[in-house]
Amino acid sequence: MNTLKMQSISKAFPGTLAVDRVDFDLCPGEVHALVGENGAGKSTLMKILAGSYEDYTGEIFIQDKPVRLDSPAKAIRCGIGMIYQELSLAEPLSIAENILINRLPLKGGFRVDKKEMVREARKILAQLGLELDPLLPVSRISRHEAQLVEIARVLGNDISILVMDEPTSSLSREEIRTLFSTIETLKQQGLSIVYISHRLPEIFRIADRVSILRDGKKVLTAPLHEMTSSTLAAVMIGRDPEEYNRQASVKQEEKSLQVTGFSRNGFFHDISLEAARGEILGIAGLSGAGRSELGRSLCGLDPSDRGEILVNGKSVPRGSYRKSIRSGMIYLSEDRKTDGLFASLKVRNNILSTVIDKSCRAGIYNRNSYRDRLQSLMNKLKISPPREDAEVRTLSGGNQQKVFLAKWLAADPDIFLLDEPTKGVDVGARAGIHETIAELARKGRTIILISSDLTELVALSDRILVMRNGAIIEELCDYQLTEEAVLLAANGEGVY
Ligand code: ADP
Ligand code: MG
Repeated sequence: MNTLKMQSISKAFPGTLAVDRVDFDLCPGEVHALVGENGAGKSTLMKILAGSYEDYTGEIFIQDKPVRLDSPAKAIRCGIGMIYQELSLAEPLSIAENILINRLPLKGGFRVDKKEMVREARKILAQLGLELDPLLPVSRISRHEAQLVEIARVLGNDISILVMDEPTSSLSREEIRTLFSTIETLKQQGLSIVYISHRLPEIFRIADRVSILRDGKKVLTAPLHEMTSSTLAAVMIGRDPEEYNRQASVKQEEKSLQVTGFSRNGFFHDISLEAARGEILGIAGLSGAGRSELGRSLCGLDPSDRGEILVNGKSVPRGSYRKSIRSGMIYLSEDRKTDGLFASLKVRNNILSTVIDKSCRAGIYNRNSYRDRLQSLMNKLKISPPREDAEVRTLSGGNQQKVFLAKWLAADPDIFLLDEPTKGVDVGARAGIHETIAELARKGRTIILISSDLTELVALSDRILVMRNGAIIEELCDYQLTEEAVLLAANGEGVY
């Protein structure tokens, strides 16, 4: 059973078809986000539901019964409550009077029963988890509290559908959090909620499904777990979602790296994380948060005290870099000068150093068989000068970094732990390294990207773990992948 079904709803204003044959429905206990650019028809569609426009066309069913919502009173009787952007509380009156404005309990037929009024108002406020004094005049409360009182008033009408039109536009972060927990509570109580917003992060945070309007028409209804914010934005503005949707195109079900309870006393503690094939997992944090220490210990370059590391489902002994490499996981050091490259050796020997290790294991060492590979890597990364016998120390920083990357590309591991891969390189090299990282992910390799460069981190990562004081304190994905969110989280301020 649907709580609400709107079928082929249209509404014209002189000169505009504001809503054009829109279908929209609501399930019990669902938060359904309604999004679209300004003027898309969101408010008009919901005002129709609130009984504001008697001249709409189309059909509306509430709990499967056909209804004609031709007046606000009728909409209220049908269990529809609407919270507009502009609040409409009566300033001089108390919270209780506002909540119960249409149905104040009377004593002796005409005097307000104040005790009963306070009791009833308290009950409704409690339903929202609010502990406001019902006798406080609304002129004395914050805008946010006023909004909650407004919700309480609408709830007093015994509604089953609550519509909120851009409810967070003037709220602080903290207030938004409170509003969301209120919405969560109402949802638990079985209320269906329509949530209009153009703020995509909020929608991912609280909604179950989303419908997108564009120029009065509905273009999509989908569960949010099937969407990313980039797809949503693309559909909203009328672009091809595929263009924007790299994440959705990568199958990320096979876990290549699984880490549990990983700790190194004094550096990081109780780290658990997973990364999938084809995933770029960013690791953010302020300096000193423990990111590089984690990276180095994961690869066995540094010791660790507890925890388990699985690469492609197989346990890898802690503290052995050699075994990490053999398992298919490599670490590209933040400080390539000290432990990444052999500066006095030739480009060729550096690039082939990992491969040589592999071939020695197989009992053979045939340098020529790697020649082609070497040349193609050097071409691909545009290592300059393109001479395999140049000594690494004579190369620029950016080119040294490319040699470093080439060395690991030659080994073709499954998991790349890259620590500050573009630190100190020039713009051109940086773009080349970014493209290489993206390509590795497309080929199904897993990238763990440790970076202090927020732009880089946000642009490349599918998901970002934020570290602080040696622990992972936040996981950001989809819509949360903004520099601002990462920065707030890294500073311990959290994201909504
Ligand atoms: P949204 O809420 O998605 O921003 P609206 O529903 O407010 O969009 O508006 C949809 C279209 O209808 C817009 O082109 C708007 O200008 C027009 N419109 C909305 N309300 C009225 C009105 N009362 N009179 C005339 N045109 C209106
Ligand atoms: Mg609007």
